Amino acid sequence: MSPSPRARLPAVALLLLATLAADATAADPAPLPAGLGARVVEWRRDLHRHPELGNHETRTARVVADHLRALGLEPRTGLGGTGVTAVLKGGKPGPRIALRADMDALPVTEATGLPFASTVKSEYRGQPVGVMHACGHDLHVAILMGVAEALAAMRDTLPGEVMFVFQPAEEGPPVAGEVAGAKSMLDEGVFDGFKPDAVLGLHVWSRLHAGQLGVRAGPFMASADEWTLEIAGKQTHGSQPWAGVDPITVAAQVLLGSQAIIARQVDITAHPVVLTAGQIQSGTRFNIIPDQATMVGTLRTFDMDVRQDVIDRFRNTAEHFAAASGASARLVVAMNAPVTVNDPALTARLRPSLERVAGAGNVVEVPRYTIAEDFSQFANVAPGFYFFVGTTPPDVPLDQAPMNHSPLYAPDESALDLGLRALLQATVDFLGGPPAR
Ligand SMILES: [Zn+2]
Ligand SMILES: [Zn+2]
Repeated sequence: MSPSPRARLPAVALLLLATLAADATAADPAPLPAGLGARVVEWRRDLHRHPELGNHETRTARVVADHLRALGLEPRTGLGGTGVTAVLKGGKPGPRIALRADMDALPVTEATGLPFASTVKSEYRGQPVGVMHACGHDLHVAILMGVAEALAAMRDTLPGEVMFVFQPAEEGPPVAGEVAGAKSMLDEGVFDGFKPDAVLGLHVWSRLHAGQLGVRAGPFMASADEWTLEIAGKQTHGSQPWAGVDPITVAAQVLLGSQAIIARQVDITAHPVVLTAGQIQSGTRFNIIPDQATMVGTLRTFDMDVRQDVIDRFRNTAEHFAAASGASARLVVAMNAPVTVNDPALTARLRPSLERVAGAGNVVEVPRYTIAEDFSQFANVAPGFYFFVGTTPPDVPLDQAPMNHSPLYAPDESALDLGLRALLQATVDFLGGPPAR
């Protein structure tokens, strides 16, 4: 265990920070301890150099836990795998809030050429891969470490309690079908004894410019289901299809037929739905009709009732197309994330906090995104507020900037400072304001 830089701060500096914090009033922006912005940049670069795949974030978790200990907190570790939490109790009574950051990196080989670029190699589902913080979760961890430090410095005057939640494996389980990430932390009782009145999180985002924050009330990121459809036919010679049952033709019919669910059966004015097949596997040879076809894909919706309705219709479509040819179909659906919903009242309440640090014109309404976020698991337990922090340099057109998950994704580091101040301000305003419910 190596001590964090924070642990080496002289006591006089800590005293100074505490004094600064004690001077804060509701009218001032939440204060930042001296030099914190620069340390957050250092932490982020260190994390970026040492990315770890989902459920393997052991070094990251150690860095986080050491930092929380240096702030005088008592972290819980090993939650949902490598998750870390700690509770900061303010000096006054007040509400409870949870702040969440995700820690995992992706199987992507970095190509940014940055001086702190990752050269880490690993294995993912049997394949050798490079590992990179290509989604920017290194920024999330560094920002939340910074927010924890700023809040710890104002602890005596702070109302309420804050739980810091550092979660593993947001990008999904490393092994298909495994429980991972937010869900596994909840299953292991992350909020036992600490029922939050609100849960907050943020994501760095290439589709906004640095200096901008993105918000949206209500459902704004999709549910993500991984579905598998197995079609059983009857193997025969390719020259005599009537002697068997062709599962490939059935797969093709189901695939096209399933798009009619969205085009003809769902109210498209209210409910965007995406049903994608990403993989079709069948057969071994040009002149053999195989006995089996398997399709794997994803379903994205913005409403949990619509989600279930589309699954039911998809199953119905698949089973009837299969039956019409004498085949059978079996649909299995594994949910990766529910719809991410920003609680409308909480969003209305905290949007001014974001405007205060970014400037009103820099807080923009974002569209619904068909990406998914397992922050939604936490937001199903307490009112949630999740916002985006722009990372594309102002002089680069948004549609030309490498996106999150690209090997070239290189967020403008000013996003660290803005993310830090925005999350801190929203937290302080929430704790100091009227109860959420
Ligand atoms: Zn991602
Ligand atoms: Zn992400």
